[in-house]
Amino acid sequence: MVMLSKSLRLQRPDRGEDPAGWGRGDIVAFTNRMGHLSASGKLSASRRLAFTRFVRRVLLRFRTLGLAGPGGLLEGMPVGFALWPEDMPDEPEYTEAGRDLPEEVMRVLCANLDLLEEMSTTEVRVATELLIDTGRRPDEIYTLALDCLETDPDGSPVLVYDNHKAYRLGRRLPIGGETADVIRRQQQRVRARFPDVAPARLKLLPRPKTNPEGTKPVSGIASRHRKWADSLPDLTVPVITMEAGTRVTHLVPFDKARIFTYAYRHCYAQRHADAGVPPDVLKELMDHRAITTTQGYYRIGAERRREAVDRVTALQFDRHGNRVWRAAQSLLDSEHVRRAIGEVATPYGVCREPSNVAAGGHACPLRFRCLGCEHFSTDVSYLPDLKVHLADLLRSRERLMSAFEADDWARTQAMPSNEEIGRVRRLIDRVSSDLDQLTAEDRAQIEQAVALVRRSRTVHLGMPRVGQPLPDVRPPRNPLP
Ligand code: SF4
Repeated sequence: MVMLSKSLRLQRPDRGEDPAGWGRGDIVAFTNRMGHLSASGKLSASRRLAFTRFVRRVLLRFRTLGLAGPGGLLEGMPVGFALWPEDMPDEPEYTEAGRDLPEEVMRVLCANLDLLEEMSTTEVRVATELLIDTGRRPDEIYTLALDCLETDPDGSPVLVYDNHKAYRLGRRLPIGGETADVIRRQQQRVRARFPDVAPARLKLLPRPKTNPEGTKPVSGIASRHRKWADSLPDLTVPVITMEAGTRVTHLVPFDKARIFTYAYRHCYAQRHADAGVPPDVLKELMDHRAITTTQGYYRIGAERRREAVDRVTALQFDRHGNRVWRAAQSLLDSEHVRRAIGEVATPYGVCREPSNVAAGGHACPLRFRCLGCEHFSTDVSYLPDLKVHLADLLRSRERLMSAFEADDWARTQAMPSNEEIGRVRRLIDRVSSDLDQLTAEDRAQIEQAVALVRRSRTVHLGMPRVGQPLPDVRPPRNPLP
């Protein structure tokens, strides 16, 4: 009401002191002013809606109390001085980009899901897992039907849910196999608990009490989720600042108030944007009508990838394990371009041999013996792949040395040489020891960048485009190291 008064004071020549002079134009001016305050960041979208609703109710109440009638305090207030349904702002989407949770925080949350179950119920845990994995709005998950899991014609699992907000029912969201398993296990629990109720009537997440037929959905998840998040140990996240022209990483405390059930929707959007999912596909995944709404959910994936590439490239090595010296703190623009067109990915690094690059990585003159090739380099983000490669080499050497049937020439060629095994071991040691020398802050920053770069790499190796499988960006449930 104070804001309405202010608007009248600013708008009207009589500073709004005569109620009989108020009119429709003053209401329009008030709603425009609220819109302007919201657009300029001085008023959040939800407060704008709450204030406007309140003013509407109060003006209506004035009238029903007869204050606008003869002798009333607001005598002469015209009928047009009221807020109509079309004056009300839209329900805000929680669209402020950057509300996603950092990788480190998600890792801690996923590693503590058992604790959430202990502190609440299995339903709360399953709901949280589904919020994390599917990015649906909380009420879309809480009200899922028991038979919410279907398959597409190619056999891939699909979650069927209702988008209550946009009144769109029976929406289908592609999900990963592990998420489908979470649903299947929950379906079994519910069927065992309500064996006599027709499955079509049951909820996937039935309320644990006062629910004899399993038809009422679970409630109160947000508060139990809050308690759980607050009970977790203090969280820190790496933040980079520029100090005297140098990037310095600090570990700063993370505000647990930012961990709420809706934040997982932002994380879902951000994970997919980081993985290179095109905006139009992401819009469909988020089930938005307008792409601008989707764009409000994530920070541009390409920018974040670029920052991450800068960070991992700072820990780059040649095939001998020598650090490729880099004076600049970040890659030059031209280098980013070169990374896009002047190199191809190999299983554990990159190749810059021009003819192989031109052939998209299919024309290696050395038959992919990258660890012995001068055109090869690797960086810290390939460390897991190098370790897998070493294990593969050792395993195939064992097999070839046993009673494997093969001609001598084939066996000799296929046998991994001691040089190759030694080279990959040295490379792993070098990368690991350089990582060990980093401060905890820098290490955390690098780990974050590695996760992001690896995720988008999966995509570049041919995973998602429209009509093709989506990248599996489900946060892992591994225990913390
Ligand atoms: S062996 Fe050399 S040329 Fe062949 S893919 Fe590996 S780095 Fe490129």
